[in-house]
Amino acid sequence: MSTLTDTRSRPLRDLRISLTDRCNFRCTYCMPRELFGAEHLFLPRRELLDFDEIERIARIAAGLGVTKLRLTGGEPLLRRDIDVLIRRLAAIDGIDDICLTTNGSLLTERRARELKAAGVNRVTLSLDAIDDERFMAINDVGFPAAKVLEAVDHAVAAGLTPVKVNCVIQRGVNDDQILPMAEAFRHTGVVLRFIEYMDVGTSNGWRLDDVVPAREILDTLRSRYGLTRQPAGQPGETANRWHYDDGAGEIGVIASVSMPFCGGCTRARLSAIGELYTCLFGVHGHDLRTPLRSGASDADIAAQLAGIWHARDDRYSEQRGEETAQRSPSGDADGRVEMSYIGG
Ligand code: SAM
Ligand code: SF4
Ligand code: SF4
Repeated sequence: MSTLTDTRSRPLRDLRISLTDRCNFRCTYCMPRELFGAEHLFLPRRELLDFDEIERIARIAAGLGVTKLRLTGGEPLLRRDIDVLIRRLAAIDGIDDICLTTNGSLLTERRARELKAAGVNRVTLSLDAIDDERFMAINDVGFPAAKVLEAVDHAVAAGLTPVKVNCVIQRGVNDDQILPMAEAFRHTGVVLRFIEYMDVGTSNGWRLDDVVPAREILDTLRSRYGLTRQPAGQPGETANRWHYDDGAGEIGVIASVSMPFCGGCTRARLSAIGELYTCLFGVHGHDLRTPLRSGASDADIAAQLAGIWHARDDRYSEQRGEETAQRSPSGDADGRVEMSYIGG
């Protein structure tokens, strides 16, 4: 089989599947209450891809080169019977890695064991502050950091390892949490990764000034710890990896804004209603649900998917970098799709 590549010779390797647009958190940078309040209309259930449809797309994507699936949302653990879906995805030929990104609020000890048994290899949890009050203000539903730490422990105990923790840093919001977060995860085997705050969607009012660049995050870490850069692991890897010199483990920084990695981007994203996005910053998705629901054959859908990937030209973050100098600090959002909708 010849490798399917896009116009920049990037193969299709990862598929991120958003299982729902709903979430039980209202993180101020992702689903701010003003826009995702009581009046917000989430997608009705019939609009969502069902498990047959998700499995079918994943199988077709695997036939085109996808080896890794990431389940996300919204909050993926809100999707009922997710284990049933995971079992089906894990059985697909060619899929060798299934990951899940979660806010951890529903990751009980039992749930973690069930996910592992169903076929999830690894989980990434999100935690933006170690200080309870600060974290509660960010998630805006009063969920304490201590509970997420419990979920991290459950994930480790269930063998969903290496467990990673994502921490999105925003200037003036949680940049003082860099060192306390690092301290909390040293010597635990959990890989903490700081993420530059990105201009995803249009609802978070992103400003370039709110971004704490990776360089600054690293300078802060280095003010206390000795760190040695690790060589890149897999191709398409997003994080710059570092080891503590005192043997306390690994820490990463994802410099999506200041050092974009579009050149190695092998990811496609499937929204909960079956639109395929070839970039996190996409404006329009390609509708795969209509062909799925109107009798298209696997070969038809494979041809459509291959055509979409073949024509892919996205390199938004690199372009943002090139244009930043001329851009207004508030950026210009152009109707881009929201992270909670497309999946992070
Ligand atoms: N609800 C799950 C969670 O929070 O882990 C999964 C979905 S969430 C959209 C996936 C990841 O995207 C989270 O780690 C979140 O912090 C991150 N994220 C959301 N908006 C972001 C932004 N504007 N910049 C950087 N990361 C963002
Ligand atoms: Fe929900 Fe995750 Fe977005 Fe927070 S970052 S609002 S937990 S989807
Ligand atoms: Fe990939 Fe788009 Fe992000 Fe670049 S901006 S790394 S193409 S998702």
